[in-house]
Amino acid sequence: MKTFSKFARFFTEQSRNNEIITPFDMKVITRDLESKGKDIIHLEIGEPDFDTPEHIKRAGIEAIENGFTHYAPSRGLLELREEVAKYVSVTRKISVSPNEVVIVPGGKNVIFYTMMALLEKGDEVIVQSPGYYPYEIDASLFGAKIVPLPLREENGFSFDRDYFKKIVSEKTKLFVFISPANPTGNIFSKEDIEFISEQAMKNDFYVLSDEIYSRIVYEGEFFSIASVPGMRERTIILDGFSKTYAMTGWRLGYSIAPKNISDIFNKFLVSSNSCTATFTQIAGLEALRGPQDTVDEMVAEYKRRRDFIVDALNEIRGIRVVKPKGAFYVFPNITGLGISSREFVMKLLQNGVATIPGNTFGKYGEGFIRISYANSLENLKIAAERIQKTAEELS
Ligand code: PLP
Repeated sequence: MKTFSKFARFFTEQSRNNEIITPFDMKVITRDLESKGKDIIHLEIGEPDFDTPEHIKRAGIEAIENGFTHYAPSRGLLELREEVAKYVSVTRKISVSPNEVVIVPGGKNVIFYTMMALLEKGDEVIVQSPGYYPYEIDASLFGAKIVPLPLREENGFSFDRDYFKKIVSEKTKLFVFISPANPTGNIFSKEDIEFISEQAMKNDFYVLSDEIYSRIVYEGEFFSIASVPGMRERTIILDGFSKTYAMTGWRLGYSIAPKNISDIFNKFLVSSNSCTATFTQIAGLEALRGPQDTVDEMVAEYKRRRDFIVDALNEIRGIRVVKPKGAFYVFPNITGLGISSREFVMKLLQNGVATIPGNTFGKYGEGFIRISYANSLENLKIAAERIQKTAEELS
C-alpha cells in the first residue's frame, strides 16, 4: 500500500501529540473506568457544567422547526456576522465590519486556519508555555519552529518582557496570545499588551489573540491587543460561544481578522466544512441579542468555585497554587509531592479525580496539573478531599 501523507504521519507516529494526555484522551480513559463502576469527579475538560441558557436552546429548536436546516453562506449568516461585528466593536472599542467576521464550527478552527494561512517551514511561532496545547501541535504540523515563552509561577504566570524581546527575531511570524489564559487563568496587563504590540509592529509579526475567555474575568479588566492602535491589521481574534454561553457542543465560534485573511479563512472553510450549522448560528444570534444575566450568574458562580478550590488546594502539603484572575482553571504546583505531573494525575484518577498533567501544556507546564473548576461546588469539595488523600499517601 502507498504511504499516508506527512500530515497523517505527524498525527500517528511518535510526536509530541502522542506523548501528551489531552482532555479528550482523558475523557476516553475516564469513560472506560466509569463503565467498570468507578466514581470519578471530572475536572479534566474546559467545559461549563451549566446547561445552555433556556432562551438560546429555544432559539436553536425553533430554528430547526422553522427550516434553518440547510447550508448557510460559508462565512456565516449575514445577520450573525453583523451582530458579532457589533459586539466585538463595542467590547474591543474597534471598528469591525461583517466582512471581517468568519463564523466557524468552534473557535478551535481559527487556530488551524491561522497556522495554515501564515506558516511555512523556517517560520518561528512564539507560544506561551504553559499554554493551550493545540497551538504547539498545529504550528509544528505546518513545519514552523516553536519558540516557548515561559510564564513563570513566581510572576503570577505573567511573562518577562526582556525574555520576550530576546526570543523575537526576524523569523518570528506569529505570536499566540491567550488572555485570560488557559491553563493558568492569568490575565495580562495593559502594559504587557502594549509592549507585545510594540514588538509586533517593530518586528512585523502577526498576533493570534485567543479571547475565548474574555467574558470570564474576576479581577481586572479584559483588554484586547486588537484595541492597540496599529494592531488591527496584524491581529486575528479568536472568540466564540462555547465558554461564555455554555455552548461547547453546539460548535460555534468566529474569527475577526483583516479582510484579506478572512477571505483565506473562508476558502479553508468552503473546502473543509462548507459552512457552520445554520440553526446553531440562529442560536448564537439569540445568545448575543438576548439577556446576558445568565452569563453574569455563571461567572459569579465560577468565582465562588475558584475561591473555594484555591483555598482548599493551598492547604494541602506539597501543593501550592496562584489565584487565577479569569477563565475556569487553576494550575497548582505539585513539585512538593516528589513525583511527575503525569504520575500524580494517574494516582488522582485511581482516587476518583480526573485532571490533566501540566506537561500537556508545554515544556514549562511540568510540575503542575490543570484543574478545571467548571463543576459544582459540591463536587469540588469531594474532589479536594480526594486530592488531599492522594497527596497524603505520597508523604
Ligand atoms: N482557545 C482556548 C484557550 C480554549 O481553551 C478552547 C477550548 O478549550 C478553545 C480555544 C476552543 O474553543 P471552541 O472550539 O469550543 O470554540
